[in-house]
Amino acid sequence: MIRVNPHHAALPARYLFAEVADRVRAFRRRRPEVELISLGIGDVTEPLPPACIRAFHAGVDELAAAASFRGYGPEQGYDFLREAIARHDFQARGVHVDADEVFVSDGSKCDIGNFQELFATDIRVAIPDPVYPVYVDTNLMAGRVSAGKGNHRGGLVDLPCPAANGYAPQLPQEPVDLIYLCSPNNPTGATMTRPQLQQWVEYARAQRALILFDAAYEAFIRDDALPHSIYEIPGARELAVEFRSYSKTAGFTGVRCAYTVVPRDCGAWQDDGTRVSLHGLWNRRQSTKFNGVSYPVQRAAEAIYTPQGRQQVRALADGYLANARIIREGITSLGLRCAGGDNSPYVWIDAGRDSWEFFGLLLEQAGVVCTPGAGFGPGGRGHVRISAFNQRARVELAMQRIAHVLG
Ligand code: PLP
Repeated sequence: MIRVNPHHAALPARYLFAEVADRVRAFRRRRPEVELISLGIGDVTEPLPPACIRAFHAGVDELAAAASFRGYGPEQGYDFLREAIARHDFQARGVHVDADEVFVSDGSKCDIGNFQELFATDIRVAIPDPVYPVYVDTNLMAGRVSAGKGNHRGGLVDLPCPAANGYAPQLPQEPVDLIYLCSPNNPTGATMTRPQLQQWVEYARAQRALILFDAAYEAFIRDDALPHSIYEIPGARELAVEFRSYSKTAGFTGVRCAYTVVPRDCGAWQDDGTRVSLHGLWNRRQSTKFNGVSYPVQRAAEAIYTPQGRQQVRALADGYLANARIIREGITSLGLRCAGGDNSPYVWIDAGRDSWEFFGLLLEQAGVVCTPGAGFGPGGRGHVRISAFNQRARVELAMQRIAHVLG
């Protein structure tokens, strides 16, 4: 008899964005005359940078000729991209990352979701609340839940991110083994400072814990005092894995390309007390379950690091950040408190009421779709996330409508 994985029963019934999509669909059926503006899901709207498109086309053309055709590539990514990443994203900022520590993939979502497979089921896992729901759900799927806990976060250790702490996660009261950090954070937009990150690195060292550092929104950091990589903190190479994505950096949400840095110094312990290299384990995992990112996509990603590519990608992020400023200013002028939107494409709003109720209000009366904070964890209650990923005119119109409803 075929039986289901019982851990799936521990998952919340609906994934956040599916629930939002259902409600939007129902609204559209009832009010087809309203032209909705989506500032909900974090998908980009601007086309790929021209430098990437050119390299993408050239990569496809190479596949059209027998002399330059390529079949399976290295599971870890082509050297040309791994080297460009190590040089431009890390070494140019004085950070030690070698090309062979970079694992290219088809997305941070899968890398982050898959990485926990390397660890024992009974480790204690600390996850910020609120945060990108993939961290919680993938640990629930893996069975890291203690029985009897009522909320959907199960036996995981919540790291509260209170407004008083700038929405940054607080150290746990109990010992933990695996720590997820997201900076700039989705959904709050909070970006961890150097002293805050330093504190987490020291904590992880003392606990012999590992940090999974999700820097998917690194390209939006504009404050020079803020760290872009956890490896800017001395000692982090031994205890942190970092995830980066081209999705928001360069509009690759549909193209799919990302990478994970697993330093050679990074390890975890076996039951007999020996320390094992995570680089080796991840390499083994990827070689077994993953067959690499397509050649033209990796050429398109490499083009991000050319002088034109860097300029174009910077301009893309600047455009979204300008949208975020419009949202922030609009919300603040309505007397609501908000955070984020300065080093991040997300503005996190204290709704002063239930987050699904506020979501419903903006949908029904302003025709604007946002994301209810409660979907990111219990700590997101009373908040909504507004995303800057849309065209300028749409963002301006959305803010006019919101001002009309709330003003
Ligand atoms: N990490 C965070 C915090 C995200 O918000 C997202 C996507 O929204 C991802 C990772 C996934 O990115 P990718 O498109 O590379 O799978």
